[in-house]
Amino acid sequence: MLYSVRMRAAQGAPHEQGGRHISGAERLVCRQEVAGLTQTMLERAFFHSRGEADFINITVEAIAPETIQTVPILPVTEMEAPDYEAGRGAAQIVLAAVGVNPAAAAEGFAQLLALPDSMRGAMLICAQTGKRLDTSGMRGVRVSRMDVDNEAVYTEWLAKQGFSGIHIREALVLASKVAAAHGIVAELCWSDDPEYTAGYVASSCTYFRFAHLKPQGCTQGGRLFFVRPGSDIEALQEYLTRQPVLVVVPEVVKQ
Ligand code: AMP
Repeated sequence: MLYSVRMRAAQGAPHEQGGRHISGAERLVCRQEVAGLTQTMLERAFFHSRGEADFINITVEAIAPETIQTVPILPVTEMEAPDYEAGRGAAQIVLAAVGVNPAAAAEGFAQLLALPDSMRGAMLICAQTGKRLDTSGMRGVRVSRMDVDNEAVYTEWLAKQGFSGIHIREALVLASKVAAAHGIVAELCWSDDPEYTAGYVASSCTYFRFAHLKPQGCTQGGRLFFVRPGSDIEALQEYLTRQPVLVVVPEVVKQ
């Protein structure tokens, strides 16, 4: 049996009472791992670079095995861009190349940059018009109930490509779940951790990683999910927020 373990931490008040989002995490683990994981999540919330949380919610919930879907992990392509301005320009070109109307990409960027602070979740944006499609306000749509099917294989797979660290590890799992959703054209993300400037554009078949999509020290992060016009938004939100997904990573072939 696997358990969905979810953490959300805020400062000033709980999220639902207007508290400032500090940190969140989503995992699917077996029972023996739950205690250690909740400890790690607590420490992450207390010692986060966005500030110390004074509200922390950790939920542990059993997942029926027959409800779990599997999806493939997205392959990673590293993009060359020397700074965040060049990175954002290149990210808009990639978004257009994978099917987002350039005006919608620009409108999505504008909405993300206009946020007063980081949201807890993502905005659903029409890939044709750039209009926001969800009604979740500053909460956003939070993707949940996902993990990799084999942690050790994943670590080796990432290391073989020169990647380590929690950011890419978590982002690639989330992006792989999102990319497999009906109606998703592309995703844009950069972190809200002030020291982490990297971000990505994900299409249905590639995770394009940029070393810089925001300036160093910036606490403003965000995620945009560009949605095909005419998609069933309710079904999409149900998949993103509730469908348990394990991301399958190919075994690294030993030489
Ligand atoms: P992070 O990459 O964790 O620093 O998150 C960057 C931004 O992405 C956050 O400020 C949120 O707006 C959004 N985000 C983080 N986690 C999720 C999630 N599980 N689902 C949807 N959006 C998220």
